[in-house]
Amino acid sequence: VNYYLKNIQTKAHLNAFVEVYTDSALEQAALVDEKIASGKAGRLAGMVIGIKDVLCYQNHEVNASSKILEGFESQFTATAVQRLIDEDAIIIGRLNCDEFGMGSSNENSIHGKTLNAADESRVPGGSSGGSAVAVQANLCTVSLGTDTGGSVRQPAAFTGLVGIKPTYSRVSRWGLIAYASSFDTIGVFSRNVPDNALVMQIMAGPDDFDSTASRKPVPAFSELLHFEKRVKIAYLKETIESPALQPEIKTNTLAILDKLKQEGHQVDEVNFPLLKYILPTYYILTTAEASSNLSRFDGVKYGYRTPNAHNLESMYKMTRSEGFGEEVKRRIMLGTFVLSASYYDAYFTKAQKVRRLIKEFTEDLLSKYDYIIMPTTPSTAFKFGEHSDDPVAMYLEDLYTVQASVSGVPSLSIPNGVDESGLPIGLQIMANSFKEAELYAFANYLT
Ligand code: GLN
Repeated sequence: VNYYLKNIQTKAHLNAFVEVYTDSALEQAALVDEKIASGKAGRLAGMVIGIKDVLCYQNHEVNASSKILEGFESQFTATAVQRLIDEDAIIIGRLNCDEFGMGSSNENSIHGKTLNAADESRVPGGSSGGSAVAVQANLCTVSLGTDTGGSVRQPAAFTGLVGIKPTYSRVSRWGLIAYASSFDTIGVFSRNVPDNALVMQIMAGPDDFDSTASRKPVPAFSELLHFEKRVKIAYLKETIESPALQPEIKTNTLAILDKLKQEGHQVDEVNFPLLKYILPTYYILTTAEASSNLSRFDGVKYGYRTPNAHNLESMYKMTRSEGFGEEVKRRIMLGTFVLSASYYDAYFTKAQKVRRLIKEFTEDLLSKYDYIIMPTTPSTAFKFGEHSDDPVAMYLEDLYTVQASVSGVPSLSIPNGVDESGLPIGLQIMANSFKEAELYAFANYLT
């Protein structure tokens, strides 16, 4: 803990941590030491973990990087976090992110931007940018992020880490501040596959506080990392041939596919005609869900309340106008529009139908192949401000990550070399729902 506390201090300019729990982390560490001495330590004894600023931790502030939650303290702890604490992990602090998880660059945060430690003029990715940089810059051993449409995998790719989005429902969402409830997942950042697998196996599983959490048993992922079979791999022609793809990422992705072929695995090119519908589907459905989820922040129940109101109506209006950032407001407006009576069928219902088609295509493909491989991102980490004036350009960053989110299947990003400027490249692997064990074993083989 002292080692990490020192690093956090010397690398404070990266702005990964929003709050460091110095005292409680040291106290917890002393307790764990005692447990280790008496042979009663849990499976994560001494593992130092940072958590994204959207996960509730009892008696600690949580803001979702938004002004609207300024000063809000949680009365309970998220199930995912509690399970880590129960196994003697040490929670060292709260990590920066895009407001309510909305963004791909960590530029939309009331706490300011987080810098990528590989090149400080570049974004760390988002929305879990702080969680990525905390592990990248050695400020904690692993961190928790959330992934609704790529927010763990994309920053993992930009910072050279292993990042997983589990199957939707694998990890309880109790205590996670909602963005888009039918997409939201809690994921893990780590330097290697075994750490990631261990943390995931402890967090995952049924939870009485979240009725959508799957009751399926959770295999011991970290004990199933051995891999020696021959597998079938698909890659999607349209993802590799997309003009948006940076040439070095294409080269490195094709190189891995080639290597796998040479090692005796079956590697097939498959057509994916739905690629162009994925982002619109994702952004229609997530903004719809967000506009509904974020209606609870009204100045009455949580955090910030405007000091300028003159009646109840203006209190709601001014609190929300002053409390939400630009991107969040854009999404509330978009979501409200696609849910409005006259446009509901044209946008929301239609997008749900397309979601079903994408899900069926993906699941069908993953019943014939063990894995789908593709780049995690179309480019490596971009410069601050590069997409700030163009929301659509920013949304395009999520081109490759949203398929798994729309389909609910697990997906993982691992490092796959660097580009000409030395920036990390990510490789994305998807497997069918609840096949995290297979995903980890394959990722372990590739890293
Ligand atoms: N960049 C995507 C978005 O803004 C993904 C965010 C996420 O996964 N939380 O919606």
